[in-house]
Amino acid sequence: MEKQQISCFLWLVFSTFTFLGFAQESGVDTSIHKGLKTLKTDYSFKTFVSNDTLKRSDQTLENLNLAKHYFDALFETYLDFVVVLIENKLWEKHAYFPPPGMPQAIKGNIILGLGKSLLSQTVERALLEVPKAHWSTLTTVYGDPLDLDLFYRDILSIHELVHLYQFKNGTQPQRKWLQELFANMGMYAFVKAESKALYPLMDTYPNFVLKSGARMATYRTLNDFEDKYVQELSPQNYEWFQMQFYKQAQTIIDENGPSILVDLLNFLVETDLSQTEQLTDAALLTALDAKVGESVANVMRHWKTP
Ligand SMILES: [Zn+2]
Repeated sequence: MEKQQISCFLWLVFSTFTFLGFAQESGVDTSIHKGLKTLKTDYSFKTFVSNDTLKRSDQTLENLNLAKHYFDALFETYLDFVVVLIENKLWEKHAYFPPPGMPQAIKGNIILGLGKSLLSQTVERALLEVPKAHWSTLTTVYGDPLDLDLFYRDILSIHELVHLYQFKNGTQPQRKWLQELFANMGMYAFVKAESKALYPLMDTYPNFVLKSGARMATYRTLNDFEDKYVQELSPQNYEWFQMQFYKQAQTIIDENGPSILVDLLNFLVETDLSQTEQLTDAALLTALDAKVGESVANVMRHWKTP
């Protein structure tokens, strides 16, 4: 029972990664900023809040600032983006999709929960319904009582930021799994290199959920992921794929270092379907070997279906 519940939680987390295939304008969509207050910060990116009296996570903005510097330098670019912090009751008015607190990056905006998000409340409440012995390891990282916004907002905002570096120049990747692998690789590379404090926040909750196993994943091939994606995969099944990408991302970055992110970003942009035809699986493997590296191609080449 608890495993099933836990699986349900995480699909919410990772379903945010699936709405990122929207056509993207080169600029920032400012239409969602109407009625919001500007938050004064020392950072180069603008920040809007729906309510300036609610407690904010200033650490989230600090993390994003550090991450922006890291990725701007790595990718030799300057990313123009806006952070939008929205409380639960105004989420529907400003965000692109529910539920409140679901991090999302679309059209130059990173939208995050403000205050205690409905998303984390839902997950924490469900955890309280299973014996604490099953999830007590989480309390050492996320506090007691749990504060899972430390994962949803502070950590996944970095994943969303990585997507924007791709979306700046292309939103139609050869494969959706490559796009998600890229965001996981970027998040992992940044946290590993720049913030030992964030590492347990990034790693503990996913590992906790990974232990729930694969029994809920009916579909397990990369072709399944491409064909069905979030629309046709069950939440638990979609979650299972994202977990595999996260673990693969760790291995790839550990073996290659962050420079492979540059090669993968260039590949995603150069082979964007707005520019080129869709490659066959065989042609994609050959191209990945030549232009990015075997370790990324090997995700597809050696994909194991338990
Ligand atoms: Zn994603």
